[in-house]
Amino acid sequence: MLSPAWTTDWMSEEGRRKLREYGIAPPRAASSRRALFGIERVACPQCGSEDTEVLSEFGSTACKALWRCKSCREPFDYFKCH
Ligand SMILES: [Zn+2]
Repeated sequence: MLSPAWTTDWMSEEGRRKLREYGIAPPRAASSRRALFGIERVACPQCGSEDTEVLSEFGSTACKALWRCKSCREPFDYFKCH
């Protein structure tokens, strides 16, 4: 594995805070299943807006999707670990 400790560590409050510092939207445990149906709202890590859209189901890794915020027009990675 090239990406150790991503599954549990990133789900903690500390991990989620770090993800936001990296400009990555942390995964939402409660609604992550709904992402499969494309109805999930992902908040922008830059401005917090939920007016976002998915650009690519696969970002820089298979574990991340590429999203873009319609408010600040910044693209960001969304973590979608299974
Ligand atoms: Zn934004």
